[in-house]
Amino acid sequence: MSTESQDYQILVVDDERDIRDGSERILTRKGYRVTTASNGEEALQRVGETRFAIVLLDLKMPGMDGLEVLRLIRESHPETLVIVITGYATIETAIEAMKRGAYDFMPKPFKPDQLRIVVDRAIELKQLTDEAKRLQEERQRTLKDLHLEQSRTRTVIRALPDGVMVTTPDAHVALMNPACTRLISLTGEFQLGEHIQHYVKDESFCDLVTRTSRGEVPVDQTSLTYEFSMEGDKYLRVDSTTISSEEGECLGAVTVVIDITGLMVLDRLKSEFVAKVSHELRSPLSTIHEQLAMVLTKLVDDTPDDQRYLLSRAKEKTHGLITMIGDLLDLSRIESGSVIRDRKPVDVSAILTGVVDFLRSKATGKKQTLTLTLPEQALPPVSADPQSLEIVFGNLITNAIHYTGEEGRVEVSATTGDEQVRVTVKDNGFGIEERHQERIFERFYRVKDDNTRYITGTGLGLPIVKGIVDDLGGSIELDSVPGKGSMFTVVLPLS
Ligand code: ADP
Repeated sequence: MSTESQDYQILVVDDERDIRDGSERILTRKGYRVTTASNGEEALQRVGETRFAIVLLDLKMPGMDGLEVLRLIRESHPETLVIVITGYATIETAIEAMKRGAYDFMPKPFKPDQLRIVVDRAIELKQLTDEAKRLQEERQRTLKDLHLEQSRTRTVIRALPDGVMVTTPDAHVALMNPACTRLISLTGEFQLGEHIQHYVKDESFCDLVTRTSRGEVPVDQTSLTYEFSMEGDKYLRVDSTTISSEEGECLGAVTVVIDITGLMVLDRLKSEFVAKVSHELRSPLSTIHEQLAMVLTKLVDDTPDDQRYLLSRAKEKTHGLITMIGDLLDLSRIESGSVIRDRKPVDVSAILTGVVDFLRSKATGKKQTLTLTLPEQALPPVSADPQSLEIVFGNLITNAIHYTGEEGRVEVSATTGDEQVRVTVKDNGFGIEERHQERIFERFYRVKDDNTRYITGTGLGLPIVKGIVDDLGGSIELDSVPGKGSMFTVVLPLS
């Protein structure tokens, strides 16, 4: 922002009225604001009242000596430029005045143009120095703001209860807050700047941070997550995000480390509780179910229909509860890891044949066609627990039968290749809308629409299937079109 000439005040000090009035007129016409004084005392008084940019000072005046006035003005207002004017101009007085800090010197008599040139030059200097001063102040302010901002951010990061680690593209640690060093159990003196492996023992943690630091994150993901246990029963979750510049250049990664020990303990307690309650409920419920079945078979012919209906509903509901308890116990077993404890080479063809045979009557009951297609050459064995594979395929084929209308088709087939065995369960049933496709693998999630309204279930079948397949190192894929049908594909690794 430049300053205009009218923003500058000029004081003309001269005992000669003509000079005072003439100078005032010339300078006012140029847009300057001008004040006059006829002697030294008056000049000092004006200088005390107003901030003048320039003082035009006559050196020879009655009363106070001009050089003394110059000295006092320079002392009290060093930023004011003093231009000395005198009729008795000599080199000596000029030198003396300059020595005492005068900015310029003008002999009397002077022409209007001379005055204008000298004053304009002084004002130009004033403008330049003012601008330089403003820039300097601004720079200092910016530096101060930056410093304040940096120290604020540093304080916040230091105070965070979660660990924060910043790494360069080659996975060298640039920053670690105290929570991070505590969580990864880093003790004693250490220097930042080394590769992550220097500070963290867990290899997968280091791999993950190395990958995100290099920007090797799958396109559909913003960060990579990993959970692991440290010695001393501590569980940590690591969330690492690649940081890129606006131009898309990878700058490294920010990794957040969170202590999830409490959550893990809570999860284990919850699972244990569910397993215990389920176990306790299973026997009495089975007894009630058997007794209801017995009562129903022994009912005499003249028992009213409504009583017969109520009893068979009670038997159905009890059966539903027993199924749910079975599913919950399966889930607990999967969570505790006992499902894959009894691994041995398993012939998937034999398991599929057994399950399909067992479920054929269910399909026939709905006039459905249930087929099993196996490759001509025997499937190579997979390493699994046979019972857990029966649970997987039993659930998928039962679902296909349940969620397909009368006279539909359910096709089961198995193939091998690429060190894998692939089993598909395909139906031409109701299909699953896109928005439900991920959620049906969540516990207790069931699709509620006109097709499924009267189909009973627990919403635990697919989470069990997924839990087992994951534990076996495999995967499950779903391809489904509402109104056309669904295809679940289970991929199991051979070793
Ligand atoms: P449940 O069958 O006990 O409800 P699942 O976890 O096995 O529980 O299935 C969850 C939901 O997924 C079902 O309620 C159903 O809506 C849907 N589903 C599963 N398999 C199929 C299928 N083959 N066709 C259509 N919908 C299905």
